[in-house]
Amino acid sequence: MIIDLRSDTVTKPCPQMLDAMMQARVGDDVFGEDPMVKQLEQRIATMFGKEKALFFPSGTMANQTAIKLHTIPGEQVICDKFAHIYNYESGGASFNSGVSCKLIDGNKGMFTAEQVLESINPPDYWYAKTSLVEIENTTNKGGGSCWDFNEILKIRKVCVNHELGFHLDGARIWNAIVAKNETTKQYGEVFDTISVCLSKGLGCPVGSVLVGDGAIMKNAIRIRKIFGGNMRQAGYLAAAALYALDNNIERLAEDHKKAKEIGETLAKLSIIRTIEPIETNIVIFELNTDINEIGFVKKLANKNIQIIGMGGRKLRMVTHMDYNNEMHERLMQVLKETKFD
Ligand SMILES: *Cc1c(COP(=O)(O)O)cnc(C)c1O
Repeated sequence: MIIDLRSDTVTKPCPQMLDAMMQARVGDDVFGEDPMVKQLEQRIATMFGKEKALFFPSGTMANQTAIKLHTIPGEQVICDKFAHIYNYESGGASFNSGVSCKLIDGNKGMFTAEQVLESINPPDYWYAKTSLVEIENTTNKGGGSCWDFNEILKIRKVCVNHELGFHLDGARIWNAIVAKNETTKQYGEVFDTISVCLSKGLGCPVGSVLVGDGAIMKNAIRIRKIFGGNMRQAGYLAAAALYALDNNIERLAEDHKKAKEIGETLAKLSIIRTIEPIETNIVIFELNTDINEIGFVKKLANKNIQIIGMGGRKLRMVTHMDYNNEMHERLMQVLKETKFD
């Protein structure tokens, strides 16, 4: 039994999802003829109360398309220093859109409306023009933290007053919605564009979706094509997504519960220095300075438990639908019984 806690992207489609994929009626989506893709896009647009949704092969491409839709080269995007678009998209914002990022020194990947206000460049022509604010919910590098929706509303006001676009990287928005008892509609109301991921907590093999209203999404399909993201019989993937939307959202609460229990067990170990508060399915922790992380990760790997480092001294465990009760009990047992120092 291999216990893989490196990411929630490691899940494999369950037999029922595979069955839904096998039953899919597909067509060439480049000709707009794939009924499953159309159904998925319509469904997600409706969920968020937006006019248009577009299916993408990755969350990175959905975010990069959003940045392109909101900006022209030379402009500036405001985001947190932990932002995925800044850290983990291969410099794509500058490569694809020719924009720079103004980084906010936030708290666990989150910041305040006041910090946004302070980060907007003055209108003088020698500054880069600020044109977009981007936030992430839940925050990845911030340890799966959820935003306070009231702060999001305040940032929305700043965006409206300063004519800035507002994009949500909602790779794990499903986790936030389940953890905070929120709705997709309330997110649709405040953001201009939202990217959501189907291949993380929801357990699909591939896929993300970008949603927005007609005006902003007008060129999205052309940009997706420029990025090479058009797909043909993508309905097999859309069928997996439709299955996941029906079956795999509410169960995220189970992943959150397990992550909290892992945190409680870690907290009792003398080798642990700090654990970030656990709100969803990500556990980020630091070992005491006299404990070598590589040795710790190796000791777990020897027991068939895989985790990864986050840079600095931080280590990460992520729970997901393929991390079952049996694996959970085994992990607890290994954490309690292994001598790590
Ligand atoms: C995973 C992730 C993405 C998109 O990743 P892909 O691997 O390209 O699908 C975007 N933003 C955040 C916060 C993520 O965690």
